[in-house]
Amino acid sequence: MKPDPSPGNPLQEKSSVDKRRSRRMLVRIAVIVIGTDRDGKSFGEVTHTMVVNAHGALVELKAELSDGQRVLLRNKQSGERQSCRVVWFRKAEQGINHAGLEFASAAPHFWQVDFPADDWEIPMMRAAILKEFGKPLAAGETPRPSPLADEVLLRVEACGVCHSDLHMAHGDWPDVAAKMSWPAVLGHEAVGRVVELGAKVHDIALGQRVGVGWLYSTCGECEHCRDGAENVCLHRKVTGIAAPGGYAEFMRVKASHAIAVPENLSPVEAAPLFCAGLTVFHALRNAGLRKGQHVAVFGVGGLGHLALQLAKLAGAETMAVDVSEAKLEFAKKLGAAQAILATNADTQELLKAGGGPHLAVVTAPEKSAYDLAIRTLRRRGTLAVVGLPKEDLTFFADDLVVGEFKIIASAVGTRAEMRELLALAAAGKIRCEVETCALDQISEVFEKMQRGQLLGRAVLVM
Ligand SMILES: [Zn+2]
Ligand SMILES: [Zn+2]
Repeated sequence: MKPDPSPGNPLQEKSSVDKRRSRRMLVRIAVIVIGTDRDGKSFGEVTHTMVVNAHGALVELKAELSDGQRVLLRNKQSGERQSCRVVWFRKAEQGINHAGLEFASAAPHFWQVDFPADDWEIPMMRAAILKEFGKPLAAGETPRPSPLADEVLLRVEACGVCHSDLHMAHGDWPDVAAKMSWPAVLGHEAVGRVVELGAKVHDIALGQRVGVGWLYSTCGECEHCRDGAENVCLHRKVTGIAAPGGYAEFMRVKASHAIAVPENLSPVEAAPLFCAGLTVFHALRNAGLRKGQHVAVFGVGGLGHLALQLAKLAGAETMAVDVSEAKLEFAKKLGAAQAILATNADTQELLKAGGGPHLAVVTAPEKSAYDLAIRTLRRRGTLAVVGLPKEDLTFFADDLVVGEFKIIASAVGTRAEMRELLALAAAGKIRCEVETCALDQISEVFEKMQRGQLLGRAVLVM
């Protein structure tokens, strides 16, 4: 690739391109992530990687290659970036692909890139791919990502399957759905080994085991980041939305948001802590749980079974509430003082015995669980909103006022909390119950999750 020799007429395409010359000019192109940023047209998000050898310098082009699109060129050595526009792109005419790139620098110039179709070397990987909202995820091949300068590439070892992924796959949340890149790779409880470092990454070693959760990135500058509440950062980006997630053999993650996983913790056990574990850990902390208090956990699933353990660890008396006898048996094994079937006639009385729980943590994505929780909460008690039903939650103001209830919510947690939680798990103080499955089983796992049939957390193992 080199500057076009006739800048006066840059768009004029050569009628035929010598294949050998093309091979010399360019070499490789790989599709990676698809996406747009907040204003919908920035090139900060990436679709293709093109590694070209221009005058001996390796340059990487990050762009959707289609006419009119703004793209970003990155120097592979320095990480320096330069923007340009694709003025035309044609795929494989006579076995040759062509692209014209016009630069928006002070002295505009034009590059023509010609490359033979044979030279398309797209490193692929296996992933669970979502092609459309509401359609099942399916295992398949997708181009393997390459890390940006401030990112690392993980070879994913395990990725937990979160209920949020079900919502995202169904397009239940309009804000998130609007930012989704297609085809989508979800998964935000990923643990893996670092296999590639971006040019500006210095504090992570190759081979290190790290994990990444819901927060793909946070700004570090907004009032919430400054106050240590980065989990509600105004500019946070979400793993699986802003960049492809962990239901894949490889994923790229921000070095700043990759958290070291203790070596004595298996990736399968560690993965679910990155969303399920962190969310309930943060909820209990946010609720100001104190020793000796009574905590009712509604829903003994991936989040609930960890909430029970964490509440017990904090010195609380725990009650598990669920519609499934099997899950209640499971809760007893985890040390719940009481296991209460949500559908019995005397459920309310049982929950209210002794004044009711000081804290109700609702992890079940069911409105009925919230209704039961608020009816049985101890006066001056706290309701922690964790599970996300599709319907609106509705409470009588009178009920809230009479009991002086507090309602708090929990949006995952911070990186500092994540490190604390990993340390607890590494010390053997909490254990995540997991059901492992292979990438091919992803749609069955989603169905089981939808029917509430998973005991503990499903974890994809790559
Ligand atoms: Zn999650
Ligand atoms: Zn922020």
